[in-house]
Amino acid sequence: MGSVAVPLAGLEESYDYIIVGGGTAGCVLANRLTEDKDVRVLLLEAGDDRTTDPLVLTPGLVAGVYGKDEYDWNFQSVPQSTLNNRIINQARGKMLGGSSALNFMMLVYPSKASIDAWAAVGNPSWNFEALKPYLKKFATVDVPSASTKDICAITYNNDTVAYGDGPVQVSFGEGYGVTNKGWFDTFESLDLLSKRDARDGQALGAFQNASSIDPATKTRSFSAVTYLTPEVRARENLKILTNTHVNKVLFDTTGPEPVATGVEINVNGIVSQVSANLEVILSAGALQSPQILELSGVGSKEILAHHNIPVVVENPAVGEGMQDHPIVCQSFEVKEGTPSGDVLRDPAVLKALLDMYTADRSGPLGQLTISVAYTPLVNKTGVISDEGVKELFAGRDFSNPARAAIRDIVTNPNEPTFQYILFPTQVHIADKPGNMATHLIPVEPENFLTVMTILNSPFSRGSVHIQSSDPKAAPVWDPKYNHDDLDMELLARGVQFVEHLVAPESALGKLLNQTGRRLPQLKGDDLETAKEIVRQRQISVFHVSGSCSMRPREQGGVVNERLQVYGAKGLRVVDASIFPIEPAGNIQSVVYSVAERAADLIKEDRIKEYRKAVKV
Ligand SMILES: Cc1cc2nc3c(=O)[nH]c(=O)nc-3n(C[C@H](O)[C@H](O)[C@H](O)COP(=O)(O)OP(=O)(O)OC[C@H]3O[C@@H](n4cnc5c(N)ncnc54)[C@H](O)[C@@H]3O)c2cc1C
Repeated sequence: MGSVAVPLAGLEESYDYIIVGGGTAGCVLANRLTEDKDVRVLLLEAGDDRTTDPLVLTPGLVAGVYGKDEYDWNFQSVPQSTLNNRIINQARGKMLGGSSALNFMMLVYPSKASIDAWAAVGNPSWNFEALKPYLKKFATVDVPSASTKDICAITYNNDTVAYGDGPVQVSFGEGYGVTNKGWFDTFESLDLLSKRDARDGQALGAFQNASSIDPATKTRSFSAVTYLTPEVRARENLKILTNTHVNKVLFDTTGPEPVATGVEINVNGIVSQVSANLEVILSAGALQSPQILELSGVGSKEILAHHNIPVVVENPAVGEGMQDHPIVCQSFEVKEGTPSGDVLRDPAVLKALLDMYTADRSGPLGQLTISVAYTPLVNKTGVISDEGVKELFAGRDFSNPARAAIRDIVTNPNEPTFQYILFPTQVHIADKPGNMATHLIPVEPENFLTVMTILNSPFSRGSVHIQSSDPKAAPVWDPKYNHDDLDMELLARGVQFVEHLVAPESALGKLLNQTGRRLPQLKGDDLETAKEIVRQRQISVFHVSGSCSMRPREQGGVVNERLQVYGAKGLRVVDASIFPIEPAGNIQSVVYSVAERAADLIKEDRIKEYRKAVKV
């Protein structure tokens, strides 16, 4: 199928900026760049516009979209040798709004040190202070109610008015109950209750995360509805094209440096081209931005040669450096009377809850009842002593700046090495999960709660690369979980700590059936068993990042601090791919704020270029 240099009907021949991927970051850019009436922007999205779809909008129905081609790219990893050769599923939003349209809506702020580490690996202009205004700019965080504050031990938040005034609407909800209280009481008894607001970047202990749920409508608040409001869509300088697959970036290679001049697109099998006067910006996510770069001739020369793709920019770092948070899910049978989301297996219960939600937006379908905790390095004895931490890290090589930066976070007793999550249902782990819903559908007849252990700053690095020159073929994703054995050592210690949380005498343990089932039926108090729990029960938190890393080129960078692709002009990457080091916590807050900051950088650069051109 040849491509024609003729624009598709309805499209102009050229735009100033072409944004590839209308996902979490892409919608932010489309909004912010078109604030300037002088620039014309084209936003291209492979999926459809599902901003009025109840399955997307209703928080409690999220499992209904996973694995369906019209919502989810549904990637699978290669078998993971450290996880009993299991395949790990990776849902990714394939619609306007991208993964913000199918994520779990947890709104968690990163730790300060995990963002300061970006500066430590060669990006001096990126640290927590620099990102902070943007962490505030993307969202409006509603004030928690008095009862939520009471149940969830929110003693530090004295806000009486909303925090921030950004487009994404964030709230706490009302449905927290005995299990949440049990969570906070348990952490308090372990002297691990947060006294600080996680927004400051220095929370440590259990705290109540907010959710990207609009408090007024109890619907998912995500990038496509919040950044692409009817007013924004009506801007004459913004064109949004959905159901448009971008095959590759086009370059002019006649000058001293290749210049991105546009993209090749496929709309219903018709392949055509559209030009960018100023820039092409890739916001296709951490699995697909590197894929598009490789398809366009930017990548390792061996990989490109293997697929007969002419090299435009040789950079073996494209698609490398892939990171993700590993998450270990242990489910515990609850006592009779303890609430569990597993009751939704009963169609009559689901119908009753749907009726409540439809009638007046009440009930659990309109809110998230997850609670979280950040802890330092812990094991079966609690917080590990300084001596114990030293021993664990002794004799290992930290000459690589990124490894040293991560070690500094993980060994700091004031930093969250782990994030724990209280999840209100059972989690099912299959060797080859067909899609994300496989994990969530309650297949066990008993009711459970799940405690999840996340390693916030993993040392392992994976990869994602094309396996074909066909733009529609999924790339090969190998997260290489725990390939750095330190990750397994750390995660297993985190799993050991779970025994404290579910112990019979703990407030949470009292809500569990202590003689009932566990998934898996293993107790993680000894280290070897804890490692086996990791092998059987670790999956992805869906925080893939780092595959087009921002750092000096000679240190494995793909983009510079202004997110421009090394070796080419007029080409940037703006999405989770650019994270040089995975931030602590759930990453949508960082994706939104990176995109907000990127929009400012792009605006600044345009003014600079203009001044240069007119010699002001
Ligand atoms: C199941 C799940 C649960 C999650 N839960 C949470 C959570 O509770 N809290 C949290 O903070 N984070 C969560 N995350 C993570 C967070 O949502 C993502 O990290 C973030 O949304 C990624 O944003 P992005 O802009 O990098 O990519 P995306 O939002 O995925 O955007 C990429 C866009 O590019 C489009 N695209 C890709 N290829 C092409 C192409 N060739 N042509 C045209 N368009 C293309 C895609 O369709 C998509 O719309 C979750 C993620 C998932 C998948």
